[in-house]
Amino acid sequence: MEEKTIGYVHSIETFGSVDGPGVRFVVFMQGCRMRCEFCHNPDTWNIGGGKEYTADQILDQAERFRSYWGAQGGLTVSGGEPLLQIDFLIELFQKAKARGIHTTLDTCGKPFTREEPFFSRFQELMKYTDLLLFDIKHIDNEAHKKLTRWGNENILEMAQYLSEIKKPVWIRHVLVPERSDYDEYLIRLDSFIKTLDNVDKVEILPYHTMGKYKWETLGLAYPLEGINPPTKERVENAKQLLHTEDYKGYLTR
Ligand code: SF4
Repeated sequence: MEEKTIGYVHSIETFGSVDGPGVRFVVFMQGCRMRCEFCHNPDTWNIGGGKEYTADQILDQAERFRSYWGAQGGLTVSGGEPLLQIDFLIELFQKAKARGIHTTLDTCGKPFTREEPFFSRFQELMKYTDLLLFDIKHIDNEAHKKLTRWGNENILEMAQYLSEIKKPVWIRHVLVPERSDYDEYLIRLDSFIKTLDNVDKVEILPYHTMGKYKWETLGLAYPLEGINPPTKERVENAKQLLHTEDYKGYLTR
């Protein structure tokens, strides 16, 4: 009998429109080790929770919505941090590709390392991954530690590896006043992105407070208390400094 890996899923969105090209079936995996101060899904953090699914169960459910996907849509796996369940992802994406489904991985890159056994598993996963939505939370290592409790060296290394293998990515950057919304940091991030050879899009995600109630429900102090979302002018400024208009999304059109 075929052995099936179990995935631990936080929730599913059947008509996602902001997590990759077109209309997508979005699976939010349970578990994350980052502690981003702006996280709007702290309820995904707990490793060991979540609802159990096999890859076939997810794909059977996803395919019910296939007629809405059009030419561009498909499956996105987000989180939490999906790479914490890499064996499940490999099975899910391999089976998705066998069914002709476009696969997108939304990750912050935290688990990435060129060390084994992770690296071989990651290379295997990339065979079945069409696109990555790749979050760079902060370009400055010390500021990244303050914002997420972890450094960014391996995350930037992952960005470079994806460039080496020419895997299309959409870089996403949450703009947080008093944290990442400084011209100096944005200019440094722009310089880093320009060294990459695989960037299809660059997206600014303005920080928002919609997840604040979840911190309160979990009994956690909200770290960004008193910090408001960025103004339209600052969002526009960030778009200009990151030259978002220069990235046309051609690879995924
Ligand atoms: S990586 Fe994502 S899920 Fe994890 S803490 Fe950061 S924002 Fe939240």
